[in-house]
Amino acid sequence: PLTLTDPIEEHRICVCVRKRPLNKQELTKKEIDVISIPSKCLLLVHQPKLKVDLTKYLENQAFCFDFAFDETASNEVVYRYTARPLVHAIFQGRKATCFAYGQTGSGKTHTMGGDLSGKAQNASKGIYAMASQDVFLLKNSPIYNGKLFDLLNRGPSCACWRMAGSRCRWWGLQERLVSCADDVIKMIDVGSASRTSGQTFANFTSSRSHACFQILLRTKGRVHGKFSLVDLAGNERGSDTSSADRQTRMEGAEINKSLLALKECIRALGENKAHTPFRESKLTQVLRDSFIGENSRTCMIATISPGIGSYEYTLNTLRYADRVK
Ligand code: ADP
Ligand code: MG
Repeated sequence: PLTLTDPIEEHRICVCVRKRPLNKQELTKKEIDVISIPSKCLLLVHQPKLKVDLTKYLENQAFCFDFAFDETASNEVVYRYTARPLVHAIFQGRKATCFAYGQTGSGKTHTMGGDLSGKAQNASKGIYAMASQDVFLLKNSPIYNGKLFDLLNRGPSCACWRMAGSRCRWWGLQERLVSCADDVIKMIDVGSASRTSGQTFANFTSSRSHACFQILLRTKGRVHGKFSLVDLAGNERGSDTSSADRQTRMEGAEINKSLLALKECIRALGENKAHTPFRESKLTQVLRDSFIGENSRTCMIATISPGIGSYEYTLNTLRYADRVK
């Protein structure tokens, strides 16, 4: 497995996968683990019906990524290979974006926000907090069903989305000046609590919204570097489009659209295409200026559940990540 000491190569676009351990429920159901990670880049998905010996890789589907983290990898290890190099990039005046993509329950928030399962919010162990050790200014906003809310300034009316010339941009978002990592971590707790409490907005749950935490480095008032860290909506929500409930269907369509647009934008960047389809969704419009620029860097962390019960969704996640590369 990857360690805290291996050398790290620089990638303009880095695509990683992280497998979480089987959880209590899955263990109780005696679900088998269908994922193995035999090397630091290779991931194998074992055919569930064949009950193959996990050490034999015949008949399995193989995926190669820049980094593959197995269930023993800590947030610290994941951070070191994914977001940490991007923190360095923003100090060179570059733009950077790091996403967690995957099924609900696969570990996106655990990776980005840290362990939020206890009663007390504890964001100190996630990528947000680790990245914040270098941070001076931040803002925090979720995107829900094509609507945007400011998590530090609760209520939909406080911030808004307006046209500025030919482009859409945010007005009235809260930015907080901070002087140490502890300030940032407190702010993240406020934002995370707003996102998970679900009381601020009708039907709002974290699996149906994207949350974005941005770090801006300013020197003499000018934005010097910018880092966007994004905990995406559960990718299985994109398939809610056949639900009987109109609201759920519309949200599913919006999530589907934004995740497709995101994939196409990252692909276009990787291929240095002249046209990048940012306009296709609110998510990609918000992230537009983080992506743009020759020196921008992007990291996608695809999180997966190991159990056989998640087989189809896991394959969907892996195929998406594979296409981004
Ligand atoms: P998501 O945000 O993708 O819906 P969560 O991050 O909330 O998923 O994870 C679901 C549960 O699994 C949480 O209780 C979380 O603490 C646990 N979990 C996720 N990833 C890991 C991991 N790598 N190691 C241990 N527990 C994890
Ligand atoms: Mg989550």
